[in-house]
Amino acid sequence: MGNLDPADWQEFRDLGKRMIDDMADYLEGVRDRPVWQPVPDKVRTALDTELPRSGTPMATVYEEFCESILPYPRGNIHPRFWGWANGSGVPIAAYADLLASVINCTLGSGENAAMLVERQVIEWLKQAFDWPAEASGVLTSGCSMGQIIALAAARQAGGSWDIRRHGNLGGPQLTVYGSVETHHSFEKAAELLGIGREFFRQIPVDRDFRIDPAALRDAIRRDREAGFHPLCVVGNVGTVNTGAIDPLEELVAVTREEGLWLHLDGAFGAFAYLLPTHRRLLACLNQADSLVFDLHKWLYLPFDASCVLVNRPDGLEAAFSSNADYISRTDRGPAAYEVAFSDRSIEQSRRFRALKVWFALRTHGLDAFAEAISGNIEQISHLTQLADASSSLEVVSRSLLNIACLRYVWPDAEADQLDRVNREILSRLQVGGLAMPSHTVIDGKFVIRVANNNHRTTVADIEFLVDRIQAIGDQLTDRSPKAPAGDSR
Ligand SMILES: *Cc1c(COP(=O)(O)O)cnc(C)c1O
Repeated sequence: MGNLDPADWQEFRDLGKRMIDDMADYLEGVRDRPVWQPVPDKVRTALDTELPRSGTPMATVYEEFCESILPYPRGNIHPRFWGWANGSGVPIAAYADLLASVINCTLGSGENAAMLVERQVIEWLKQAFDWPAEASGVLTSGCSMGQIIALAAARQAGGSWDIRRHGNLGGPQLTVYGSVETHHSFEKAAELLGIGREFFRQIPVDRDFRIDPAALRDAIRRDREAGFHPLCVVGNVGTVNTGAIDPLEELVAVTREEGLWLHLDGAFGAFAYLLPTHRRLLACLNQADSLVFDLHKWLYLPFDASCVLVNRPDGLEAAFSSNADYISRTDRGPAAYEVAFSDRSIEQSRRFRALKVWFALRTHGLDAFAEAISGNIEQISHLTQLADASSSLEVVSRSLLNIACLRYVWPDAEADQLDRVNREILSRLQVGGLAMPSHTVIDGKFVIRVANNNHRTTVADIEFLVDRIQAIGDQLTDRSPKAPAGDSR
């Protein structure tokens, strides 16, 4: 009979100590490695084997991890990673993840300390965003999941039609609204909940990529006239492309007047609320009916950790509660719980994500996170200042948050040349392991997008990036300073 516990606990202990040592070395030395490197063919081969029917000593498996997996990660723990919207990972939280797996609690329901930790963490997050005490919340894998949960709560609260009971069919056609810059996960949520993609009305934006409130009002009015049932507006607190913040006060006004649910997607941007510099701009954050934010983005926690808050006590339970016999409450003991997170989302089995949040906040304190967030914003404004001062860099989008998009330019360049050169610059930065911004397309222009959710980044890293973009661009367009004057084109 196979025994799945270690045959020798001392051996297990020794290997664990080695792993911890190696991981601390790995983190300490992160700056000295390339940001990213391609996975070599021999590693591809090593990671494409038959199902192992029999075992291998754990130390050998660990060697394989060190050889084939550890050197070829995505790169987001590196100080010069600024791609997409990935966080950098606070080290203490990784230990918490280990501890969470050791005690291996599932947090659907139950009367135990792990459940109290998640409740505690949600209370802290409500306090951080000045949300009312009676609001409710749940930790999730990410904002994609959060949007589904929040929209389901909106749907349950907002219709005369009991969708949980009757389904969509025969009920009113619901419509939801958000700017064209809204994250695609909201559209997926609308699809999945049976609202349908075409009833997610995508509203135009202004020059700063913020939703046009007049166009929003028009769309709602037209839908009412057509006999549809407007349900919810999603406001962006930091769009993924450019970090734009929708005019929140106006969204609060529109949704109040129209009796619609206001959902805010603050995936990364919500955390700017922690800064005195941004408090007024984001003052409406607690006026929303629901808010989602990713702790694995701008709170720098390891994946995955995210939160959805709903501004009414039983808003989530209304959409998700169940009274299945096998999870019902008892009067005392391990099933005598007050809160069941399985009644607040679609997940029953849930890992103990709250532990890493608890560890990280207790260890560092919220102020240390606010300081890092403020530093990231300053670094991005330093980036745009450097780019503004350079004749060969164009800032294509700016934000009040942690994102800027830029590109290398030169006089008389054609649009397709600009795209080609900037693609090549980005590719050399990434494949060379120098730095990892990502890209997007703005007004038809291919741009290098720098999104800074990185607690390890320094001003020198930003200066290095600017310097490399210019040097590679100069080289590609044959405008290197070395070329004799007048000969530079
Ligand atoms: C990342 C992101 C999401 C999706 O969140 P996940 O955690 O990736 O599921 C939604 N909205 C915005 C603005 C985002 O940046």
